[in-house]
Amino acid sequence: MTGPALPSDDLGELQAWHAACRDAPLAVDMTRGLPSAEQIALSHAMLSLPGPAPFDSEDGQDWLNYGGQQGIPQLRALLAPLLLGVPAAQAAVGGNSSLALMHAAIGLAWRTGLPGHAPWAAARQIRFLCPVPGYDRHFAICRDHGITMVPVPIGVDGPDMDQVERQVAQDPLIRGMWCVPRHSNPCGATYSEEVLRRLATMKTAAADFTLFCDNAYAVHDFAPQASAPPGLYDACATAGNPDRALLFGSTSKMTIPGAGIALLGGSARLLDWWLAAQRACTIGPDKVNQVRHLRFFGDAAGVSRHMQQHGHMLQQRFAQVLKVFARRLSALQDVHWSRPSGGYFITLWVPPGCARRVVRLAAEAGVAILPAGTTHCSGTDARDRCLRIAPSRLSPSDAAQAAAIIAGCVLLACAELSSAPGRDASNTLKGVP
Ligand code: PLP
Repeated sequence: MTGPALPSDDLGELQAWHAACRDAPLAVDMTRGLPSAEQIALSHAMLSLPGPAPFDSEDGQDWLNYGGQQGIPQLRALLAPLLLGVPAAQAAVGGNSSLALMHAAIGLAWRTGLPGHAPWAAARQIRFLCPVPGYDRHFAICRDHGITMVPVPIGVDGPDMDQVERQVAQDPLIRGMWCVPRHSNPCGATYSEEVLRRLATMKTAAADFTLFCDNAYAVHDFAPQASAPPGLYDACATAGNPDRALLFGSTSKMTIPGAGIALLGGSARLLDWWLAAQRACTIGPDKVNQVRHLRFFGDAAGVSRHMQQHGHMLQQRFAQVLKVFARRLSALQDVHWSRPSGGYFITLWVPPGCARRVVRLAAEAGVAILPAGTTHCSGTDARDRCLRIAPSRLSPSDAAQAAAIIAGCVLLACAELSSAPGRDASNTLKGVP
């Protein structure tokens, strides 16, 4: 993939550059955080597992028949501590998609209520706190259930806890909150110990207030970490609020997306609630896929080795984008971006009023990025500033090329803004005469 070299910050030159890009557009889709083919190839050996021979478990359970509602104990013992931070007994495996489990858990709370509480359907309104920028598919689950979303800002070490504590203490209609405690989508935040502690201990007006904790990126660090497992459940249990967190995770971005293993976890009480409801839905999950994953990973060291390879591939791509942004965008006022240490996204903040314009300009140059506003629970970013950049699927050189297009489009949008009648050009270009 090639493209015209980036010009200076002069509006005319930028317009000419963009016209040349439009004439020979790239064909890059950065709208979603998909693993690259190279990453997925790390799991190709799974395609021939568990092999043609019938298999049995050491505990005598027949894995080739119905049953095993909670999932194979050995797989839970491997993945529940790593992905959810709970012991095997407090996790259930179900299907391939953690989002489907989140949707189903909210549906269950809606129909039957959380254990010991009234169904949400009986409430006048249900509200969820949504850290913003956040994950559009969480917002979609809320929308699907008619849940009113209340945005709270999020920084590098988690949501603004002063706001969170104030709102949950005052408003009994707030029954839930989305949390992505590690490498959150899209801003890359990893919640600090202090944020986890405050989430676990805060006073809530609703007795059944629940943290919907999406651990999608629990083991998705770019570089090997001596990191502890996700600690939200432990923090809640220590605070005497073990039923406060429902935890979700999957191997979607560890093995083969769409053919992975999804898990739900929480207190023993929440697990019983969940498993009892599953009896009305299914005679049991796909245990062949569970055995496949068990044989593929082997043990926790196997998971770690595998995820280090993912991390390395992702880091190569992210490094390219960050290098281009640093070179091209550092002089711009009101432009900054996240520098994640894991996960799948970079968030790029552009001057107010520019994000939609950048998306449009980039699309014209053949680089599709998530529409501006999608990271906000209302669907609209009132300040029109936030862009989600997803370089994972591209090769490192394509990621650099796409980042150069995006950077050029940011420069062009800023130059347009500065030259708009009544604007002071020095508002946008820092240090540029
Ligand atoms: N949760 C987050 C925060 C994600 O970013 C993603 C995928 O991008 C998912 C969940 C998808 O999970 P699953 O494939 O298990 O449904």
